[in-house]
Amino acid sequence: QRARQDGGGCRFFRPEILAQLQRRLSLERELQMAVENQAFSLCYQPQVDLATGRVTGLEALIRWRHPSRGPVAPDVFIPVAEETGQILPIGQWVLGEACRQLEKWQAAELGSTPNLAVNISAFQFRQRNFADIAQRVIEHHQLNPERLELEITETALMQDPDSTLKTLKKLRDLGVSISLDDFGTGYSSLSYLKRFPVNALKIDKSFVDDLPLDLDDIAIVRAIIALAERLKLNVVAEGVETREQALFLRDEGCQLAQGYFFLRPVPGVEINPLLTLPPPFVSRLRRDC
Ligand code: C2E
Ligand code: MG
Ligand code: MG
Ligand code: MG
Repeated sequence: QRARQDGGGCRFFRPEILAQLQRRLSLERELQMAVENQAFSLCYQPQVDLATGRVTGLEALIRWRHPSRGPVAPDVFIPVAEETGQILPIGQWVLGEACRQLEKWQAAELGSTPNLAVNISAFQFRQRNFADIAQRVIEHHQLNPERLELEITETALMQDPDSTLKTLKKLRDLGVSISLDDFGTGYSSLSYLKRFPVNALKIDKSFVDDLPLDLDDIAIVRAIIALAERLKLNVVAEGVETREQALFLRDEGCQLAQGYFFLRPVPGVEINPLLTLPPPFVSRLRRDC
């Protein structure tokens, strides 16, 4: 729509844009309140060993239940929090809460302690003292650092390669692992894969969705698995929703997978029974059922 032309400098004014801005501003204010009131929680999604059906790890995923809007997806509020800087207190809370939960799993001795993967945003990772922050949390909860994994995107690593390398080396010396999240969708250079001490590649869901039919996705997934093998990295497929996808990935040599086919992200208490024997997902991976 065309605004009144005598109304100042804005000639092409679209009401949708104003509405969008207002939503965005109120989201920002509500996030501030959520930070203050600790209105967040974490859910956990299992990472399953495709060869055995065992749960070897879990990914912590933040949840925000807004008092009137209900659940707001992280894909909606994390980008806003990144722009406003609110991601720092939020990310700090996530790391602390995830480690508190890991400490409980460690103490419960439910068979083996799972690895716990925590998403770290670029802004958070690029704090100069990030490795010290991680070290403090690990010590506070008396964690075996080898159980902690940090998920970072390729793009985040590439933003400032020199200081990234320093932080990665400190984290490696602590014993913490690094996974590259959404691998293949960001900006990265393969030479950095060689230089940076990373431990795992996570195949993005977009490459998994159309398996085992789409020939391009098959080629990409095979290439990522081969790359991981050569570089001695672990490989985790994300967003596995069907048995066909799971079996295809297993046959291609992918070790680990997570997705709704196994379990949606659930609160920590629902995870406990999955950590004991017998392997919870072994029957789902049988070819005949
Ligand atoms: P991500 O780290 O790549 O996480 C995977 C997302 O895929 C999660 O969405 C998960 O619930 C979803 N997912 C898993 N399996 C399936 C499946 O089979 N089908 C479908 N359709 N989806 C599946 P979620 O929890 O909404 O999180 C979205 C993104 O928000 C995450 O992507 C991550 O980038 C970010 N995020 C989530 N929690 C945190 C956090 O604590 N800190 C930070 N910095 N970012 C977070
Ligand atoms: Mg992730
Ligand atoms: Mg991902
Ligand atoms: Mg993602």
